[in-house]
Amino acid sequence: MNTTTQAPVDWHARAESLVPDGRAFIAGNRTAAGGHRTRLTTSPIDGRVLAELSSCGASDVDTAVAAARRAFPAWSRAGAETRKGVLLALAALMENHADELALLESLDSGKPILQTTTVDVPGAISTLRWYAEAIDKQSGELPSVPPGATALVTREPLGVVAAIVPWNFPLEIAMWKLAPALASGNTLVLKPAEQTSLSVLRVADLAAEAGLPDGVLNIVTGTGRVAGAALAMHMDVDALAFTGSTAVSRTLLEASGRSNLKRLSLEAGGKSSNIIFADTADLSAAASKAAFGAFYNQGQVCSANSRILVQRTIHDDFAGLLAEAAADYRPADPLAGVEGNGALISSSHTDDVEGWIQRGRAEGRVLFGGDRRTIKGSNAYLEPTVLGGLAADHDVHREEIFGPVAVLHPFDTEDEAVALANNTDYGLAASVWTSDLSRAHRVAGLLLAGTVSVNTVDALGNSTPFGGFKQSGFGRDLSLYAFDNYTAPKTTWIQYG
Ligand code: NAD
Repeated sequence: MNTTTQAPVDWHARAESLVPDGRAFIAGNRTAAGGHRTRLTTSPIDGRVLAELSSCGASDVDTAVAAARRAFPAWSRAGAETRKGVLLALAALMENHADELALLESLDSGKPILQTTTVDVPGAISTLRWYAEAIDKQSGELPSVPPGATALVTREPLGVVAAIVPWNFPLEIAMWKLAPALASGNTLVLKPAEQTSLSVLRVADLAAEAGLPDGVLNIVTGTGRVAGAALAMHMDVDALAFTGSTAVSRTLLEASGRSNLKRLSLEAGGKSSNIIFADTADLSAAASKAAFGAFYNQGQVCSANSRILVQRTIHDDFAGLLAEAAADYRPADPLAGVEGNGALISSSHTDDVEGWIQRGRAEGRVLFGGDRRTIKGSNAYLEPTVLGGLAADHDVHREEIFGPVAVLHPFDTEDEAVALANNTDYGLAASVWTSDLSRAHRVAGLLLAGTVSVNTVDALGNSTPFGGFKQSGFGRDLSLYAFDNYTAPKTTWIQYG
């Protein structure tokens, strides 16, 4: 029997010795922005300065797009086997550097190291492998055409793709775009969120080491207003894949119309409901998953189940179980390697979320939580919080809060639950808890959401499409459907008769 026990990792000590490189990655090299413009990036965990990030401007974006354009012919014709080999080599290198990537991700975003080592980094690697493996299993079509001709329908890469991604799952969401875009033969210019650029920059270094040709992947760091807007308006970007807010999605649609009609896929905000019927088989399990759905990742999840609708007869029992389950999401030092939530993305974002709690307190009730915490000198920490006693059409029920704040609301009938759940401009996800199979199908069919989870929350996997209805956007990440964002069908008609 092996009796050796491993000493726990001292993540704070490792963080002290980490010196992240904040320069952009263009044409295979780390590159300072024009004019050497930089801004400091800090960690919400404790306010420490992490790196000087290049502030890319329009001319840097031009350079990156030109590099991607030059790299496109060779990469798109390299053949699926070749592309697969390079992407699998990158996945292996990411695995070798998993601790470093996880630490960068935690420091940048405030996520607990327990999460980045077990979810974010392994999740990104698994998505990369999934697409690397998928690409050489794709086939075209031979549609029926009149005699004397053969028609082939093939999927063609679009060219230069831009991706703009948010700060809540920096590496995973970057990989949701990067993996299918590169696997299908496009080249990419990716702009990470200004708060969380370090992990994907490091992945770009590893991609070069894995043999990815120069220019196939470029990372432009900088603000949305400058670098993001330059990508959105660029005349030589063929497609733009975005994850972020609905407000920015609108500006991207306009920019596409005002520039070159680049095609868009938009994964925008959400306000998802979790409906708990009285016939739920295991109410404790439902409460535990409901806490996960509302508070995981500090509640900064686009598909967070932040509206919890509970059938009136079990409402109070459920509220008690939820309060118990929420204890697992109380904030703790993110680098201590313990259970619990980490820091929100910044103090100012925490101010905004706290503003919602204050509104809930003034206009309804705080059922539990509601307090802000200071840990390691940073006040970007919040207790998991549940509001109640608010009218069904209150903003709290309809708008995204993007923090560990959920609202609990009773309902009586199935019809009422469906109407409440659909009463939002968003349509990203929803959950239903019931032991009645007919009800599960009936309600799932009526919910306007891209993903409906039954007897679980936030169901998600590489092989299932993820994206929204209504103002949660259009286009799908993950699964084979994601190739629709990065390829176009092409007809080749051969007449011989
Ligand atoms: P955001 O829209 O402010 O920023 C997202 C990205 O867009 C960042 O990289 C930012 O720099 C860039 N950006 C900002 N303004 C821009 C502009 N004018 N032109 C071009 N780019 C611009 O969102 P955020 O605050 O980083 O992230 C939170 C939002 O993301 C929430 O609304 C959340 O629901 C959404 N989100 C959606 C999904 C999904 O899959 N549907 C997943 C995660 C997050």
